[in-house]
Amino acid sequence: MTLSIESYYMKFLRCARCSHDFEYENPLYRPITLPICGHTMCRQCIDIIRNQTKCPQDQVSFGINRTPIDQLPTNYPLLVVLYDPSNLSQDTEERYGQCPSYMKFDKDTKLIFNAVESAFGKISLEIKPIINDKQCQSILSRSMIRKIFSLLNSQYIDRASRLKVLKAIRSLGEHMCIDFILRCQNPQQVTDNFRSVIGLQSDQFLEPAVQEIVLQSIASLKDHSTLSNKHLVHSVVLQVGANDPNGSKPSVNRIVNLLSDASCFQVQQDGDSLSMKLKSEFQNYESLRRAYDSHIMQVVMKDGFYISSEQSSSLLYGDKQHELSMQSIIDKLSTPGSFSQAIQQLGNVLKKFGVQNNDEQRLSNNNQEYDSNWTPIETTLNIAIIILKFLINFKHH
Ligand SMILES: [Zn+2]
Ligand SMILES: [Zn+2]
Repeated sequence: MTLSIESYYMKFLRCARCSHDFEYENPLYRPITLPICGHTMCRQCIDIIRNQTKCPQDQVSFGINRTPIDQLPTNYPLLVVLYDPSNLSQDTEERYGQCPSYMKFDKDTKLIFNAVESAFGKISLEIKPIINDKQCQSILSRSMIRKIFSLLNSQYIDRASRLKVLKAIRSLGEHMCIDFILRCQNPQQVTDNFRSVIGLQSDQFLEPAVQEIVLQSIASLKDHSTLSNKHLVHSVVLQVGANDPNGSKPSVNRIVNLLSDASCFQVQQDGDSLSMKLKSEFQNYESLRRAYDSHIMQVVMKDGFYISSEQSSSLLYGDKQHELSMQSIIDKLSTPGSFSQAIQQLGNVLKKFGVQNNDEQRLSNNNQEYDSNWTPIETTLNIAIIILKFLINFKHH
C-alpha cells in the first residue's frame, strides 16, 4: 500500500458510507461504485445496503432493470491509485466472478470493457505521482484533481450509467483543455474580457462587495410589489445608499439589467412603461445570487471565452471560496458542442506555441452524438488521456 498519498486526497479513497480506507488485500474493503450517483463504497457496506433501492448518501435511485448492486464489479482503476497494478489480480474469474453482468458479456464486449477499465487505470497512473508528491501538486489544480477522482468513481456496466460516464469524460476533457488555455492567458486580459462581456466600460467594475449588497437589497425589498424599472432602481439605491455614498446607481442599474436578462422578474406592460416584480422563487438572496452568477457565466461562456471556477469566484465574490459552486454552474453550462469547441481552441493555442500535435486530428474527430454504446466512451476516454498527459508534461517543463 502506498502510504505517502497526501491526506487531502485520501478522502477520495475511502468508503462513502463507513469511511474505511479502500483496500485490496481484504476483499471486504474493495471499492464498488454505484451506478448514476457514482458514490463508491466498500464491499461490506454494499452488502449491507444491497436490498435498498436508493443510495443512502444522496437518495439517488439505483433504477429498475439495473445490475443488483452486490453484483457490480470492483472499481479496479481506483485501486490503481493505491496499489501497483501488477499486484492486482489479472485473473478474470477472480476480478469479475462476482459480477454476472460481466460474465454474460460476449467476447467483444468483454474486450471493450477491459479496454475502458484499463483506460481509467491509465488516468489513475497519471495522477498518482501528482497526489503523492507535494512538489508536483501545482501541476493540476485541486478542482481538476477532484474532477478526475469523480470520473474515476464511474460505474459503466449498465447502459444508462455509460451515458452518464460519457458526459463526465467530455466534461473533464473540456475542463483540461480550458485549464491549459487559461494557463496561457494573461490574468489582466481575463478580467478585461470578463468586464466587457458583462457590458462594462473599461473604467467600470462591479466590486464583489457592491454586487452582494445590491443583490441582497433586491432580494429583500419590502413587499416585492410591481415597480417600474426606474422605481425599482431607486428603491434599491436608497437601501444601498448608506453603504455606498459614492453613488451606486450605475451598479444597481447594471445589476437590475442583468437580473432582468436572466428572467428573474415578471414583466408587465403598464400603459407606456414596463413594470417589474421579482419572481417569488428569487425572493431570497441564495437563489437570486445563483441565478445571477449562472447568467453571468452563461453570457461569458456563450462568447467562447473561458474562465476557471477559481477566477470566476474571485471576480464575483472577491475570494476563491465560492469556487465549488462556480464549478457546478460551469459544468451545468457545458454541452457536447462545448467539448469540441474547447478541443478546437486547444489546437489553436498549441499551434501558437509551435507544437505540432499528431493527435490533433484525433482530437477534432470527436463529434459523435451522445450514445450509451461503448465505442464513444473508449474514444473519448483516450482523447481525455492524451489531453491529460499533454497538460502534465507541459507543466513539468
Ligand atoms: Zn464501507
Ligand atoms: Zn450516491
